[in-house]
Amino acid sequence: MHDPNCIFCKIIAGTIPSNTLYEDDGVVAFHDINPAAPVHFLLVPKRHIATLAAVEPGDQALLGKMLALVPRLAEQLGCGDGFKTVINTGPNGGQEVYHLHLHVLGGPRPWKRATI
Ligand code: 5GP
Ligand code: ZN
Repeated sequence: MHDPNCIFCKIIAGTIPSNTLYEDDGVVAFHDINPAAPVHFLLVPKRHIATLAAVEPGDQALLGKMLALVPRLAEQLGCGDGFKTVINTGPNGGQEVYHLHLHVLGGPRPWKRATI
């Protein structure tokens, strides 16, 4: 449920500060500390799920809810002209933080980094 060594669990618990833009009983969205684009936020489940590869059949509703939230939050942050969604999974996927998170990037181009 909660991994004491996980940086995103600490953000969810409020022991590490973050710039939170959305929260409900199952998910939290906060701005990325090192944004790769003018808008760059992360959407995470409150429950500690290490990676997309660790998702189980019972997580379907949670994942659907996360994806359905993206356009709403992106719109609120002014990404009416589009946005990019990314989930890095595992070492070859470039995942650095092992708590499932969906990146949402948007805003006028050019962006700081082509990839995240
Ligand atoms: P990954 O490479 O695992 O897909 O992405 C991890 C993301 O988490 C990176 O974009 C990184 O900037 C962000 N990040 C890492 N530590 C923190 C933190 O303490 N606070 C916030 N807001 N973002 C973080
Ligand atoms: Zn965690």
